[in-house]
Amino acid sequence: MKVVRTVADVALVVSRTKISGKKVAFVPTMGSIHQGHLSLVEIAKKQADLVVASIFVNPLQFTSSADFELYPRSEDADAKALAKAGVDLLFLPTVDEIYPDGNFEITQTAGQIGKVYEGEARPGHFDGMLTVVSRLFDIVQPDYAVFGAKDAQQLFLIRQMVKGQNPLGVRDPIEIIEGPTIRDSKGLALSSRNNRLSKSQLGLALTLSEALAEASLAAKRGGGAPGAYFSASSVFTLAPEAKLDYLALVNPASFEPIEEGFTGQALMIVAATVGDVRLIDNGLITF
Ligand code: AMP
Repeated sequence: MKVVRTVADVALVVSRTKISGKKVAFVPTMGSIHQGHLSLVEIAKKQADLVVASIFVNPLQFTSSADFELYPRSEDADAKALAKAGVDLLFLPTVDEIYPDGNFEITQTAGQIGKVYEGEARPGHFDGMLTVVSRLFDIVQPDYAVFGAKDAQQLFLIRQMVKGQNPLGVRDPIEIIEGPTIRDSKGLALSSRNNRLSKSQLGLALTLSEALAEASLAAKRGGGAPGAYFSASSVFTLAPEAKLDYLALVNPASFEPIEEGFTGQALMIVAATVGDVRLIDNGLITF
């Protein structure tokens, strides 16, 4: 695996690859690599000849500077894990490489769906996230980019951005690929933030996936959306130390709340805080 830190070095490797007719797949991350990230690398390897991964903790997408400072960083271990998983090129840019001359201008806005759920809890988060993804896409010029289903609202907004940037096929289309959420043996969705949970908090963190499982069972029993919602919220009532932020059923095609009588697959999204760690999860539920 080649490790580079500059835009010029990425461009060199990618252009050589593309000239020879090969395809490039990209997996952007903020590091603290776990099996969730590595599963995206696996998908990328199946799609393309050159797999590029990046690690960049993007200051623009953090609402509080404390959260940015606390975000775990483990460059050496991350590089080892990504190399083992088969990444060809690892891009480790400095803040200045991504935002030259201290220009932290927001170039992408997430619109209405960027202001609800995660966007409401973290104002500006999605504008910052889209701005860095767009900048990374411009640098890496991938044919494919792989993102996790774990961050469903993020994935929805990235798809929306890519579609919007390519209305007439002006820009090279980037195919966005979704990788499934990877969980531990108990069902907890893997996340870099889990490292900050104590053993007892790890138990409480299971409330999110348990709520989703209960909702799914209620839907199977024919309880419809009200039954699914009630079952999921009851799990939180029984575990008040997991502080529920939102629980909602949205249409995956629009991210709008599902309407009465909805049939098909809805996405149940959930966010809760355990200790001082904010956790999110989601799952598809069939009605
Ligand atoms: P992050 O480093 O948290 O910004 O995540 C980088 C990428 O990994 C994003 O596309 C996430 O959606 C994805 N990801 C994070 N956790 C998981 C997981 N448990 N399963 C699958 N993908 C994940």
